[in-house]
Amino acid sequence: MIVVTSRLLQTNCTIVRGGVSADVQEPEDATPSGETFVVDSPILPDELALLPSLLEQARLPQPGGLLATHADWDHLLARIPFPDATLGCAESSAVRLQAEPGGAQRELRAFDERLYLVRERPLQLGAVQALPVPGTCGIGDAQLELYPAEGHTGDGMAIWVPWAQVLVAGDYLSSVEIPTVSAREGIDSYLATLERLRPLVARAAHVVPGHGPVLDGARALAVLAEDAAYLQALLERGSAAELPHGRRSRAQRVLHAANVAAR
Ligand SMILES: [Zn+2]
Repeated sequence: MIVVTSRLLQTNCTIVRGGVSADVQEPEDATPSGETFVVDSPILPDELALLPSLLEQARLPQPGGLLATHADWDHLLARIPFPDATLGCAESSAVRLQAEPGGAQRELRAFDERLYLVRERPLQLGAVQALPVPGTCGIGDAQLELYPAEGHTGDGMAIWVPWAQVLVAGDYLSSVEIPTVSAREGIDSYLATLERLRPLVARAAHVVPGHGPVLDGARALAVLAEDAAYLQALLERGSAAELPHGRRSRAQRVLHAANVAAR
């Protein structure tokens, strides 16, 4: 697995190779075996453009598929460097994309205009493959496990990579960003998602959040506890809820105010 962290928003893109046994040494000139998936995406045009050669240098096959943990625009950009790869997402995300045609593209355009970013190619999502969640997704001869992860948005999934003991959490368990919810019922489903992820986090070697540093299992459990305590306080005390330690900057307080308004 390789994690690429964007210089903007510390957005993580996770590259997973499955279906290849670790102890087989491949000759230098052999075609790389197994199958590669790219989960979520970095944001900047140069970071996206470098992904194909990064895979080549790491001797990984070009991606057989792309996965998005949820349908927020900043997680959908891998279609730009890999326009022919199928994009898979949770059924809930596919429904959301269908309900808001062009929505991700509009938000990307607004973001790019604000930062004067120029892209060579527009984002075209094409046909999206809806994956049943909970469920599994084949990669080579191995399986990724998919778990519902809702609350940050009304859609989404977390991905467990059994052979690496890695949880790709989507926009949960970030040590740089407080939990953000879009609606009142979001707080309850966010808390339910944290409880659903807890046993996976407890046996994870690493957790890759949507934004921020990759965490070891123990640190991720601590973030999980802080996030659950914050959300509980948000339910009970609204704006008086104390923000998690280390996530109390002015920008985090703006996110907190939005959570209070949603509540
Ligand atoms: Zn995000």
